[in-house]
Amino acid sequence: MTFGLKRMLAVAAAAILTFGATMARTDAQAPRDVEVLQLRPNFFMIAGAGGNIGVQIGEDGVIIVDAGAAPSATAVVAAIRKLSPQPIRYIIDTSADPDHVGGNETLSKAGQTLFTAPGSIGITGDFLGGVASILSAQKVLERMSAPTGRTSPYPVTAMPTETFDDPRKYMYLNGEGIEVLLQPAAHTDGDAIVFFRRSDVLVAGDVLDTNRFPVIDVARGGSINGEIAALNRLVDIAIPSVPIVSRDAGTLIVSGHGRICDQYDVAEYRDMVTIVRDRVRDLKKTGMTLNQVKAASPARGYIRRYGAESADKFVEAVYQSLPQEKR
Ligand SMILES: [Zn+2]
Repeated sequence: MTFGLKRMLAVAAAAILTFGATMARTDAQAPRDVEVLQLRPNFFMIAGAGGNIGVQIGEDGVIIVDAGAAPSATAVVAAIRKLSPQPIRYIIDTSADPDHVGGNETLSKAGQTLFTAPGSIGITGDFLGGVASILSAQKVLERMSAPTGRTSPYPVTAMPTETFDDPRKYMYLNGEGIEVLLQPAAHTDGDAIVFFRRSDVLVAGDVLDTNRFPVIDVARGGSINGEIAALNRLVDIAIPSVPIVSRDAGTLIVSGHGRICDQYDVAEYRDMVTIVRDRVRDLKKTGMTLNQVKAASPARGYIRRYGAESADKFVEAVYQSLPQEKR
């Protein structure tokens, strides 16, 4: 991370506002405190509510990337109300994980769809019941829906109201282009990264988790090569503060969990993931079983930083999702 960005984050950290502590606690599960960090004049990150949440504000309303976990949702709504008097218009989900979609229902109901005017394009407000729209990759809706013969853990009002299956979905709200980029088969099979073009902020979701090795959910369509492709996409889009590295400038990347990154941080993480992938691949090619590969400690050098338990799961996911190669 550049000196300039570090200084900016230190200043921002000093201005962190804590919400939730003074709220009336009527829920069975008391809302946890959340932290709000200002990244740009009209862009904020909310931390401490499950996955990190991106919040863009402006005259069109509030656009949110990820809704956090269900128990924090009322605290998140309270925090957003202090940032803007405008209604929540859109919630964009980066995956179907409960710590990212758990707040969908509460945040959506606290909002108001853009499509309320008679004759407006798209789904009518009546159809949505007036609540904020929830946008995700098609696979997120499938993952949140019940498998045949079972009950979904989510109510209908928590489900995405708008889904996409194209590589890129875009909107223009609050004076800037917003790109929602599908990253197939990475952390899961329904990952999206969201790029706010004028704010120059990328919200990565769980393809970037600075607290641990990336979580690759092979059972839900994740894969190591898709994970590396997603990290490369972030590196390709982001621009660091060059040639004047001391400036408080450059693209900011909001991780799914953990800290805010610049392009160098993501490139370093991508390199780590690639090195471990290559080691596992080479070992697997010799015909080793998963346990033999684990015993060879392919995540060595990074375990102290990202954790032994996380390393174990990561190596397993890499081994399982690597395409079969000949010796
Ligand atoms: Zn997460």
